[in-house]
Amino acid sequence: MIDTVIIGGGPAGLSAALVLGRAKRSVYLFDDANPRNQVTQHSHGYLTQDGVTPTQFRQKALADLRKYPSIKWGQQRVETIKKQDDGTFRVNSEGTEVIARKILLATGLKDVLPDVPNIHDFYGTSLYPCPFCDGWELRDQPLIVISENDHASMFTTLITNWSRDVVLATNGKSVLSAEQKASFASRNIQVVEEKIQALEGKDGQLKQIQFSNGRVIERAGGFITSTLTQASLLADRLGCKENENGGYDTDGFGQTTVSGVYATGDMTMNQAPQLLLAAADGSMAAAGIVKALAVEDFEMN
Ligand SMILES: Cc1cc2nc3c(=O)[nH]c(=O)nc-3n(C[C@H](O)[C@H](O)[C@H](O)COP(=O)(O)OP(=O)(O)OC[C@H]3O[C@@H](n4cnc5c(N)ncnc54)[C@H](O)[C@@H]3O)c2cc1C
Repeated sequence: MIDTVIIGGGPAGLSAALVLGRAKRSVYLFDDANPRNQVTQHSHGYLTQDGVTPTQFRQKALADLRKYPSIKWGQQRVETIKKQDDGTFRVNSEGTEVIARKILLATGLKDVLPDVPNIHDFYGTSLYPCPFCDGWELRDQPLIVISENDHASMFTTLITNWSRDVVLATNGKSVLSAEQKASFASRNIQVVEEKIQALEGKDGQLKQIQFSNGRVIERAGGFITSTLTQASLLADRLGCKENENGGYDTDGFGQTTVSGVYATGDMTMNQAPQLLLAAADGSMAAAGIVKALAVEDFEMN
């Protein structure tokens, strides 16, 4: 029997494994190595790790975990988790079965991008979801904001922190009030409501945006508002209660509404989606698990 099975080896799951390993707890970490930021070349804003690639981050984290013999991991996708009558969990992953006292879900989120042709060619290389992550690299350049939803106005305003040369493209949607349009016009921020026909560029570097009315504008990169969805249905299947943000209800230490099932990182939607915050959340959840296990063991002996 393993003390904790962690599903997800992003910063949240990896940080949790470190805390559990250092607490002498046995851990099995399953990860199918498809984190949300897989498409990006460099990660920013994580003190001491600024500019690392997602692969380097993972390799450094695994090097840290190797120091703790009670931590095992497998590059596998977990398919099912069943809570058993005695309160333990049966975890199945590509032929491997593990019984665990606690489950920690750290499965992350996925982006659903605006419906724009070939947007995936530029996502993570010159079009990004988060200015705090990549705004510095695009500072003071001619930028596009692609937003089809009601975040368009606030998000575009935020982007002006990094560049004053911003065009907002709503891709055929009407998402701004007359007042918001007037406010942008008075600040020389163009709003283009035509549908985007094509994004042009090379090797992930955006150069031009073509609109359905034939208009073409040149841009060096930009930001998009994506819709975030859960990367895994495991929490739903276990019966964890959702919160109003589309994540899961947890107490301050990751415990969900299902006893023994913890959730952490982006998937809880309790904090901004950032590597450092996900890692911190993973540490907190692991501390909660260690405490729960210690209390159980203390009371049994
Ligand atoms: C393009 C882009 C660029 C970004 N750049 C930055 C940046 O520069 N700085 C920053 O702070 N943040 C950045 N982010 C945000 C950052 O990626 C997330 O906040 C962070 O990855 C969340 O960590 P997590 O551990 O919660 O989830 P993730 O990192 O998404 O990890 C979840 C893991 O769980 C695994 N998994 C899911 N389901 C299963 C299953 N059933 N079985 C096994 N494994 C499973 C996945 O494969 C994945 O490896 C960026 C995001 C994007 C999209």
